[in-house]
Amino acid sequence: MLEMTARFRVVRGKKMPTCRLCSGTYPREFFIHGNGPNTQVCVRCAVEQGYVSKDEATNLYDDTLKSARLSTVTRRYRPFLYLTMLWGIYITTIRSINPWGWYMLLMLTLLTLISIVVFFTSAAKYSSTLSRLTPDYDRPKGH
Ligand SMILES: [Zn+2]
Repeated sequence: MLEMTARFRVVRGKKMPTCRLCSGTYPREFFIHGNGPNTQVCVRCAVEQGYVSKDEATNLYDDTLKSARLSTVTRRYRPFLYLTMLWGIYITTIRSINPWGWYMLLMLTLLTLISIVVFFTSAAKYSSTLSRLTPDYDRPKGH
């Protein structure tokens, strides 16, 4: 007898549920668990409506955690913002000034290479800092 080869393929994240209060579509882990009024309610609406307390909604970030995460991300990508600005200044004005154009080209090339190296060498520290700033969250059973 032949075995059935066609199988159901469940791809996580393909079908995302819709919150019945705000009509927002989120992944399953951003919904609260329960029946009745708790059915199909996202975490943000559940806290606003008082279905769960703020402590129970562990994957909802509070303000200090939010700003800490934002500053971590900003610190990682800030050099590229400055480099873009400096390259823009160089291309528009300083390039035509004879000795200083060459000095700035040399400086910008060095800075760009250094920031690329620093970007890749600090990747592990960045991801560890960001995971330290991410609260532990267990996906509830059935979600
Ligand atoms: Zn909602």
